[in-house]
Amino acid sequence: METVTTQRTAAGDGALGHFVGGAYLSGGNRTFENRNPVDGSLVGHVTEAGGAEVDAAVAAARAALGGPWRRLAAADRARVLHRVADGIEARFDAFLAAEVRDTGKPNSLAALIDIPRGAANFRVFADLIKNAGDEVFAMATPDGTGAINYGVRVPKGVIAVICPWNLPLLLMTWKVAPALACGNAVVVKPSEETPTTATLLGEVMNAAGVPPGVYNVIHGFGPDSAGELLTRHAGIDAITFTGETRTGEAIMKAAAVGVRDVSMELGGKNPAIVFADANLDHALEGTTRSTFANCGQVCLGTERVYVERAVFAEFVARLKTAAERLRPGRPEAAETTLGPLISQQHRDKVLGYYQRARAEGAEVITGGGIPDMPAALAGGSWIQPTIWTGLPEDSAIVRDEIFGPCCHVRPFDDEDEAIALANDTLYGLCCSVWTQNLARAHRVAARMDVGLCWVNSWFLRDLRTPFGGAKRSGIGREGGMHSLAFYTELRNVCIKL
Ligand code: NAD
Repeated sequence: METVTTQRTAAGDGALGHFVGGAYLSGGNRTFENRNPVDGSLVGHVTEAGGAEVDAAVAAARAALGGPWRRLAAADRARVLHRVADGIEARFDAFLAAEVRDTGKPNSLAALIDIPRGAANFRVFADLIKNAGDEVFAMATPDGTGAINYGVRVPKGVIAVICPWNLPLLLMTWKVAPALACGNAVVVKPSEETPTTATLLGEVMNAAGVPPGVYNVIHGFGPDSAGELLTRHAGIDAITFTGETRTGEAIMKAAAVGVRDVSMELGGKNPAIVFADANLDHALEGTTRSTFANCGQVCLGTERVYVERAVFAEFVARLKTAAERLRPGRPEAAETTLGPLISQQHRDKVLGYYQRARAEGAEVITGGGIPDMPAALAGGSWIQPTIWTGLPEDSAIVRDEIFGPCCHVRPFDDEDEAIALANDTLYGLCCSVWTQNLARAHRVAARMDVGLCWVNSWFLRDLRTPFGGAKRSGIGREGGMHSLAFYTELRNVCIKL
């Protein structure tokens, strides 16, 4: 496997630097550790940006806005973005190694989802911007000469992109690609847990011919650190954020100063509804993935499962078997199907819910603790896949986003009850419905208070369709033309003939 060749700044301590104006930049408040969640080993040190580095990144982006990028024809920007995708694919192994080292996820998962989607995001938005049309109307005027009235998209400016750690390259490029396609410049603040692939992408941007300053990366934490400094910065025109709902609230407050636009992709407590008429094999396969994939650290993951009573016992027994078949282990081992949680701190949080479930009298169908791992991996943040039944709906286990490999399963007796249970949450990101009754599928989908409703599937989506959450799971939609709408100002031009 190719070693990670991300240039580490010559800051004396070899810490991972920021990427500003097309070059790596050292300096900042201090450095912090990046640890591998597989065994707790040190990946390296990362430089935390202070005010001066954030100022430099925003200034580089503002300067780039006055440069050639936004003036390129859309087809030419699209060509450059395809070269970025080519660059990710050409350095696939380096991106894979970096992502796996930061997250601990199995190579098989990152190679199937994270890195290919990083490249695909650039291709989708390159093609979209090349083909996007504008609205044009020929108008009648009282004097009979007429007018042409049209909308034209202009870049919004400098976009702050704040990202989480669960799908670092995938979620970051999901925002950077459309922002760049529309002619903006960006300053990215990757999660402090997963700083590497965003930094590595800087080299790809340079090689692809993205002008210096169009893509910038600063490292650090959220509150009182790079994240807050960036979102409060007066040189930022709009903020696109993926992360926890509470963080979203803090960022919205920062964005209110100066009336900056926000796009918020936030948390979830997503239900699956399994009707007795479902193809149970498919429902089990889908629910196993949606609950345990990426060790449960997927915003779209399932943490509440409602199963029609006639198949409840069978479903629970088979989900238990599937959970117990998952194999934690080294990411590169072919048999590994479960990675660790992102950090010891996150494991403490998830284990807190495991203990609470037991204390509240949940029936623990499987899991509930820490797996026995070989001594070399004992420093990792491993956790058992866990299934509970028997808790009331007002339990924190059923209400809070846990973000671990776990779910609570509860029986229901009819369609109305299932919908009411599934909708009884502050969140509204997604749901998955398992039924072979077509009319029921449409009926239920129409009544779910969510941004995305899957039927007989999960995590299946054409990237041109809208993506986002209802209720406290987000504001706005990205994906396809919806991303273009967020990353541009639509200017109305009316020409009297
Ligand atoms: P988080 O909210 O803790 O952090 C996300 C990012 O925000 C990090 O880069 C962090 O440093 C930064 N940040 C934190 N506080 C900040 C502040 N006050 N100002 C500016 N920046 C700040 O989220 P996380 O733990 O990294 O990720 C997990 C969460 O993300 C879960 O809630 C999950 O559901 C959510 N998520 C949502 C989606 C979606 O599309 N809806 C996708 C993935 C993850």
